[in-house]
Parts: sequence; C-alpha cells; structure tokens
Amino acid sequence: MPQIRDIGIIATRTPQAVRPECDGCGGCTQACREGAIAMQAGRAELHTDRCVGCGQCLGHCPSRALESGPVKLRILVGGRMGRHPRWARDLCEADLASVADMVKSILDRLTREAPPAGRITGTVERLWTTT
Ligand code: SF4
Ligand code: SF4
Repeated sequence: MPQIRDIGIIATRTPQAVRPECDGCGGCTQACREGAIAMQAGRAELHTDRCVGCGQCLGHCPSRALESGPVKLRILVGGRMGRHPRWARDLCEADLASVADMVKSILDRLTREAPPAGRITGTVERLWTTT
C-alpha cells in the first residue's frame, strides 16, 4: 500500500505496441481491467490513455505479441493512515538505475527540513505542494 507510506514506490510496465504475432485470442482484453485493450479487426488494439501500467496484460499473451516498455518506478511521499489519513503525493518517476539515489536525495531533504518529531506529511506539503 505505497499510497499510505511515508515513502512508497510503485513499479509500472505498459505495453507499447502489438507485434504481428498477435492471433486475436483476446487474452489481453480479458486481463485488462481498465479497458485499455480492445479487439479491432481480429487483433489487439492499445488505448494507452486508459492504461495504468499494471503489466497484467503482458503476462497473459500466449504469443508474446505485446511489446513491453521499460519498467518505471513512481516515487510517492507523505502518505499516512490514522485520524487524519492522507494519500501520498506522486512526486516523481525513476528507473531501476536511479531510484536508490532519488530516494536518498528525498530523504536527505526531508531530514534537513522536517521538524524533529512527528510525521513528514506536513513537510512534504510545504516542500512539494506546487510540484
Ligand atoms: S498494463 Fe494494465 S492497464 Fe495497461 S493495458 Fe495492460 S492490463 Fe491494461
Ligand atoms: S493476448 Fe496476445 S495474441 Fe491474444 S489478442 Fe492479446 S496481444 Fe493478441
């Protein structure tokens, strides 16, 4: 549940193209709960504006006809539960090579700016409200 953590990371992977190997079996359309893939003239057709990057369709294609984009990592900060629950802010995107450095730089900034006690939600809002 990365949305309710001080810092959360969500991995996303999206289909980028349908290869000629698509035989129109429809497995990907059944796997996609967002309606982001439709069948058109016996082939899968992507509607990327609806895609949330869950990657479910990619594992359901028996013909490996869906071309995958790179894994991307969304970094969320400032979520919490309790009496005043709040969703974490979707701060930025990283790749596998850069995510550790980006999280370290976020933590360094929060450490410098946050008051000594309490959760970081208020500091996150103050620092990144307009980003
Ligand atoms: S990645 Fe998820 S949302 Fe996007 S097309 Fe595939 S199943 Fe649908
Ligand atoms: S699961 Fe693969 S082969 Fe079947 S319709 Fe989707 S892309 Fe085509």
